[in-house]
Amino acid sequence: MFTSLAGRSVIVTGASKGIGRGIARRFGLAGCRVLVVSRQLQESARVAEEITAAGGAARALAADVTRHSDMRAMADAAVAHFGGIDILCANAGIFPASPLSAMTEAEFDAVMATNLKGTFLAVSACLPTMQDKKAGRIVLTSSITGPVTGYAGWAHYGASKAGQLGFMRTAAIELAPYGITVNAVLPGNIATEGLAEMGQDYIRAMEATVPMHRLGSVTDVANAALFFASDEAAYITGQSLVIDGGQILPESLGAPESLGALG
Ligand code: NAP
Repeated sequence: MFTSLAGRSVIVTGASKGIGRGIARRFGLAGCRVLVVSRQLQESARVAEEITAAGGAARALAADVTRHSDMRAMADAAVAHFGGIDILCANAGIFPASPLSAMTEAEFDAVMATNLKGTFLAVSACLPTMQDKKAGRIVLTSSITGPVTGYAGWAHYGASKAGQLGFMRTAAIELAPYGITVNAVLPGNIATEGLAEMGQDYIRAMEATVPMHRLGSVTDVANAALFFASDEAAYITGQSLVIDGGQILPESLGAPESLGALG
């Protein structure tokens, strides 16, 4: 059903681990040429090697999404290595928890700088190349937290993730005449290194809350990103897709258990 993405040039930010690594590997499997980006060159290089070992094509780059010059260098590197930029997956993000009563201005700024400003800088660096070609796919990694739900300790994070969707909607309008689509994946709780840092109690609580009673995998999210990047998604822009095993569906805290009792 799907047209091949083989040979497309893809940038994935935050690709040294977690969801970004899953997206990079999935696009590599699809025959894309992948630029694996994170702040740690060694970690990015390890993922690029994984993709190459699986028969794909990948290069690694150290770049910080909060730095304008790094994002320009990232776009330049994709053009130099792969001859252009077909797809940008703006995925890099951080989620340190901090209760609102104790949250500092520095903590708030750090989350916004990576998650929201980082999205803007990555997208704007890739735009000239995509606009020249009059084609492109941009896939943002947002979250259910912020756009759909709230979670104690993540007021700054939720604001940044909801902010990405506000950014996306206007970007989608501005870029539609250039044949560039901008969409977002909204993961629920996905098993990643970053989530593991939340601790076992958090993970057990989440598994109990998700109607499918498991965390999502990075591949679950990567498959959705791949769809948004496909030719078949050409007429879809400014949209978001929740990948959460049904986590946002229950009407009350007791709803998952009562469903279980019926089964
Ligand atoms: P993770 O395992 O902690 O990985 C985060 C990645 O982002 C790493 O590659 C990290 O590499 C990179 N990164 C962080 N700051 C960066 C910066 N300033 N510049 C460049 N790269 C940076 O996190 P994850 O769980 O995979 O989350 C990835 C994305 O999914 C985030 O946007 C997050 O908000 C979103 N998300 C995750 C979940 C979940 O359940 N895991 C749920 C909803 C949404 P370096 O530190 O080496 O730079």
